[in-house]
Amino acid sequence: MPDPIDTYWQLRLERCQKALKKNNFDVFTAADTQTAGAVFQNDILPGIEVKTAAWGDSMTMLATGVLDAVKSNPGIQLIDPFDARTSPEERLERRRQALLTDLFFTGSNAVTETGVLVNLDMVGNRVAGLTFGPTHVVLFIGRNKIVPTLDDALQRVKNVAAPANAIRHPGLKTPCMKTAVCMDCSSPDRICNTWCITEKCFPKGRIKIILINQDLGL
Ligand code: SF4
Repeated sequence: MPDPIDTYWQLRLERCQKALKKNNFDVFTAADTQTAGAVFQNDILPGIEVKTAAWGDSMTMLATGVLDAVKSNPGIQLIDPFDARTSPEERLERRRQALLTDLFFTGSNAVTETGVLVNLDMVGNRVAGLTFGPTHVVLFIGRNKIVPTLDDALQRVKNVAAPANAIRHPGLKTPCMKTAVCMDCSSPDRICNTWCITEKCFPKGRIKIILINQDLGL
């Protein structure tokens, strides 16, 4: 017998998929990270022309293994904006170059069951790539990012994703790292600077989404 929790989430994933499709996103579902990686490799990549690619920080995307797959693809030049061997200046420059690639792949902070994406960035490179520049965008989203409404998404991002993300980077100093709730800080390390609400995908199908039936990322 299938796990009832997985079945419950599969139904919510499918409702979310339907709403996202109505908003012109291309949407796939996957049972787990391994399947999500296979969807990326077998169902998405062959249908788009990709000579250059770059990625935005996402624990969910990293869990699928697609970054290593793209790195080892001889036909794709990967611009890596997070290569720790390079200087901060070089990494910033690569984040700018990432906006002119054929493919940008990352995650999302929240997605609503009405088919809207909600993201909040510190630097802005992720929401910039999501919004305009790269020809194609692929997002990997775990089931824990699905919420009923836009208000729920804003709450989730500000009170769950942002503090947890700050805690994930121990070099930062923000009050939410100690309180686990947003204090609307003025810290120089504030990670909440640019909101992005994507109500519909334009052009149709530019953003491809893989909804994964697992709790992933922050
Ligand atoms: S605004 Fe500041 S306190 Fe609030 S979540 Fe962002 S970094 Fe944390």
